[in-house]
Amino acid sequence: MNTRAELVSDPTGDYYLVTGQKVFISRALHSDLMMLLVRTTPTDQVTKKTEGLSVLLIDLREAHGMGLEIRPLPTMVNHHTTEIFIDRLRVPVQNRIGVEGKGFRYILDGMNAERIIAASEMIGASRWFIKTATKYACERIVFERPIGQNQGVQFPIARAYTELVAADMMVRKATALFAAGAPCGEDANIAKLLASEAAWHAGEACLQTHGGFGFATEYDVERTWREVRVTQVAPISTHLILANIAEHTLRMPRSF
Ligand SMILES: Cc1cc2nc3c(=O)[nH]c(=O)nc-3n(C[C@H](O)[C@H](O)[C@H](O)COP(=O)(O)OP(=O)(O)OC[C@H]3O[C@@H](n4cnc5c(N)ncnc54)[C@H](O)[C@@H]3O)c2cc1C
Repeated sequence: MNTRAELVSDPTGDYYLVTGQKVFISRALHSDLMMLLVRTTPTDQVTKKTEGLSVLLIDLREAHGMGLEIRPLPTMVNHHTTEIFIDRLRVPVQNRIGVEGKGFRYILDGMNAERIIAASEMIGASRWFIKTATKYACERIVFERPIGQNQGVQFPIARAYTELVAADMMVRKATALFAAGAPCGEDANIAKLLASEAAWHAGEACLQTHGGFGFATEYDVERTWREVRVTQVAPISTHLILANIAEHTLRMPRSF
């Protein structure tokens, strides 16, 4: 993380001068405010890299064109993703959230919520895929019987349903812990991993069940199939979740 902020005091007041850039920021062009994690103490002056980071609240309406530039980054999914470039942006010291240098903890808490939200979205997507696949399988007649009468069509949908039910329980557990203010990092991660894979498998079953019409835009199957894929990469990739569980839960050596 290279975006840095330097605290400046001069007759006009106390403020941070922020310089850096960040690729992949969803919806920045449609947002008024942004929480920005910045390095306020250089890495060679801290014992852990997670120290020396601070959170600043940026008013995008004021910052745009005044040291902050937002460029759209077209992607295969409709996510309104952008790149942000920051060059000596002036941020009043009052806009710092919490204590200087302790920002990583605050952001982590928000990341747990984001992972639970992404997982919940995937539960909804899984339900939609399974409902849509089941309906089509019962209605589409090939060789004088519904395709859903074939186990080759039924089983992937039924298996996806079992994955949905299991992932849903994990999402509910993570949500309950978060709502109670309890530690939930591992649970939020597992919920996101299971729900993103459940949605992908449900999407695969739904697309295959629809045959050629799975590719027709009017059915929305191909669009939803593309959209759920992103959750195996963002907001955190499956690999990084597994690396975290291997290291912190199972106490294996750190891999990176
Ligand atoms: C549509 C979209 C919207 C996004 N919106 C936001 C946003 O609003 N805010 C935000 O902060 N970010 C956002 N992101 C960024 C997203 O969080 C990252 O893309 C994601 O965390 C993966 O990081 P990366 O792209 O840098 O992949 P990289 O770190 O370059 O990794 C590439 C691949 O290598 C694997 N990999 C990397 N290191 C290891 C390792 N040590 N062990 C095993 N595998 C490894 C990864 O898992 C991945 O599969 C968005 C991304 C997308 C696609």
